[in-house]
Amino acid sequence: MSSNTRVSKEDYYEVLGVTRDVSDQELKSAYRKKALKYHPDRNPGDHAAEERFKQASEAYQVLSDADKRAAYDRYGHAGLGGQGFGAGGPFSGGVDIGDIFGDLFGEMFSMGGNSQRGSRQQRGDDLRFDLTIDFEDSFFGTETEVKIRRLETCPNCKGRGSASGRGPSVCSQCQGRGQLRYQQGFFSVARTCGACGGTGSVIGDPCTTCRGEGRATSEIKLHVKVPPGVEDGTRIRYAGEGDAGRGGGPKGDLYVVLAVRPHDFFERHGYDLHCVIPISFPQAALGAEFEMPGIDGPVNLKIPEGTQSGREVRVRGRGVPYLNEKGQGDLIAKVVVQIPRKLNRGQRELVAKLSETLTVDNKPASPGLMEKMKDLFN
Ligand SMILES: [Zn+2]
Ligand SMILES: [Zn+2]
Repeated sequence: MSSNTRVSKEDYYEVLGVTRDVSDQELKSAYRKKALKYHPDRNPGDHAAEERFKQASEAYQVLSDADKRAAYDRYGHAGLGGQGFGAGGPFSGGVDIGDIFGDLFGEMFSMGGNSQRGSRQQRGDDLRFDLTIDFEDSFFGTETEVKIRRLETCPNCKGRGSASGRGPSVCSQCQGRGQLRYQQGFFSVARTCGACGGTGSVIGDPCTTCRGEGRATSEIKLHVKVPPGVEDGTRIRYAGEGDAGRGGGPKGDLYVVLAVRPHDFFERHGYDLHCVIPISFPQAALGAEFEMPGIDGPVNLKIPEGTQSGREVRVRGRGVPYLNEKGQGDLIAKVVVQIPRKLNRGQRELVAKLSETLTVDNKPASPGLMEKMKDLFN
C-alpha cells in the first residue's frame, strides 16, 4: 500500500467474515449477524461498535450489488473510488435501517412500544372469577349470581374519551405516525412516540369521568350457570363479559374458575364416585344386599357370598353425570370387613366352633402371589 493512500480500508469480505465465493443468502445472513451485534441501539455510546456497524453496512451495500461486487473483485477499493464511496459518500445521507432489514429491525424497534400506528382500539382484558361450590352442586349443576368489578365503556363519553365527543385528533408530536425518527450518526432510528403512546392520536379535551380512558370501573351482577358434571378447576368462559375494549375495541372474556369442596364420604376419580363401606364378617361370608346413601338417592349394594375385605363393588351409572353429555360414571364401593371385637362367651364359642369346622375348601379360591400380598396389607 502506497504512502499516499487516503484511508487504509479493510477488505469487505473480511469485514463481514465471509469467503470470496459467498452466496447471496450467506452474505445477507452474515451481514444481519454483524449488524445486530454492532447495532448502536445495543451498544449505546460505543464508537468502535458504531464504526464496525458502518463498515459492515458499507461492505454489504457493495457486495450485495452484482456490478459493484464484480468491480470490487477485480480492482479492490480502487474499483469503487469513482462511485463516491468513502468519506462523504452515500452513507452520510443516512441509511434507513428499517427499509434495508424490513421485519428484522422492525421487530427490534417496536419492542416495548405499541406499534399499532394510528389505532387506539384495543381488546379488553380477560377476567377471572373464582367460584367455590359444594360437591353436590358439581353433581347436579347450579345457578348463582356473582358480582364482578370490570371496566365498562364510560357512560359519560360513550367510550370516546373526549368531553365534547369530538374524539381523538392527530398527534402533533409524530403527525400521527406513532413513531419518531432520530438521526443517530449516519442512520436513522425510529422510536415509539411518547406523546400518544404510539397510537398516533391524542384526546385534546379528556372526559372528566374517565379522564380520557373511555372506560370506567363498575360492579355488575352476572348470572352464572354451572352445568352438572363440572369438576375442581373447570373453567367456564363467558365471551364478551370481560373488560370493555379501549377506544371501542372488542370486549375481553370472563372465565369463571370453579373450586369444588370435597365430600365427606365420596371421592371423585374421573366420572366415578369412590367410597369405603364397612361390612360385618357374616355379611362378607354369607353375602348381603342393602341400601347405602348415594348423592342422587339410595343405592342398592349387593355383596356376594364370600366377599374378601378390600374388594370393590361397582354400581353402574350411579357416578357423576358426564359434563354436557347424557349418562353417568359408576359408583365404586370398596368393602372393608370388620372383625368383631369384645366377644362374649357365647359368641366366642360360636366362632371357635366355626373355626373347628373350617377346611381348606373355605379358603379364598387359589389366590395368586399378588393377591396374597394384597391380603397381607389390607
Ligand atoms: Zn368518559
Ligand atoms: Zn405521537
